[in-house]
Amino acid sequence: MGKKTVRDIEVKGKRALVRVDFNVPLADGQVADDTRIRAALPTIQYLLEQGAAVILMSHLGRPKGQVREELRMDPVARWLSELVGREVVKLDDCVGKEVESTAANLEPGQVVLLENLRFHPEEEENDLDFAQHLASLADVYVNDAFGTAHRAHASTAGVPQYLPSVSGFLMERELKVLGSVLTNPIRPFVGILGGAKVSGKIGVIRNLLSRVDVFLLGGGMANTFLKAQGREVGQSLVEDESLPVARQIMEEAGGKLVLPVDVVVADAFAADAKAKTVSVQQVPAKWRILDVGPETLSLFEEKLASAKTVIWNGPMGVFEFPSFAAGTFTLARILTETQATTIVGGGDSIAALQQAGLLDRMSHVSTGGGASLELLEGKTLPGVAALEDKEEDVEGG
Ligand code: AMP
Repeated sequence: MGKKTVRDIEVKGKRALVRVDFNVPLADGQVADDTRIRAALPTIQYLLEQGAAVILMSHLGRPKGQVREELRMDPVARWLSELVGREVVKLDDCVGKEVESTAANLEPGQVVLLENLRFHPEEEENDLDFAQHLASLADVYVNDAFGTAHRAHASTAGVPQYLPSVSGFLMERELKVLGSVLTNPIRPFVGILGGAKVSGKIGVIRNLLSRVDVFLLGGGMANTFLKAQGREVGQSLVEDESLPVARQIMEEAGGKLVLPVDVVVADAFAADAKAKTVSVQQVPAKWRILDVGPETLSLFEEKLASAKTVIWNGPMGVFEFPSFAAGTFTLARILTETQATTIVGGGDSIAALQQAGLLDRMSHVSTGGGASLELLEGKTLPGVAALEDKEEDVEGG
């Protein structure tokens, strides 16, 4: 890791082009949740205090390379202006003559927000000509959009080819927390994985297994492992094509891998389905597993009791249905009662923690679901690789 940050370069009198993640939910033409905007404020404020002019750019929604009126950045600019307490000039494009002339005449302390980057197909294509046009607007580039750092797009991987490029504070913190957990965790280190699918997370399971002391598996993905053990899982969500890899992972994991011992089963996939708790040996053929059971939660609690570091991604059950939310909510409560540093990633786990009112009881909540999973998988994120290394890292080889 060890990437340069805004602190490592002179920004006074310069124009900083800052990639932020302002992909926020909108409702009635207003920002419905400003968490992501607030997360970028420390970097924006620092740059302004240091005497830079700030040009912000982000994507919003999925316009697929076309102008979509309802996905313009205007509501974001209005709300950002309230938050930073100064005018935010919103431009109607992100490249072109008008944008260039505004950028060329910026004074220190001014803030500009470019139009939705994904109105141009070149953004997602990582078109270097487009990237160069974006880069021509500024003197330095700052990436504070951890949530899109796993995408090699023009604004994340392309622009840094043309400008001195550093990370913002949000990016710095995400990389530091996730990086130190993976390379130098305080032990015992427990990994917890849930969610629907095994297939998208095999790399994460493998990489985490090699690093953790205990690995707790729940949610829909545990079904595939239970079936691989030869158990009846009824109508549960299972990925048959992942059975061989599940078997292999269990062999390699030895005693580290802990699977559910009891489950809540339902007679249908519905909020009002009939539900009962059974041991994993007794799943009826016509029923399906929708949550982990109380004995599993006690077992998980035992395994977590001495943990010093915990990383959690993915719900333990279909928490969207109240009858099958207990596993996820109870696990969240157990985490708040440990002495461990707790790191949570993934949109669903965060939504569940929010519903349980426990989000602020976690040590670190990652803002990037996909990006944090790719880091946990051991991958290098293109938006991070493109930034300059810190001097000492270069010298140290
Ligand atoms: P993911 O995107 O892979 O993290 O999956 C999150 C989704 O997994 C949530 O919407 C949950 O409802 C779903 N999920 C969790 N446990 C189960 C289960 N036992 N069966 C089906 N879906 C599940």
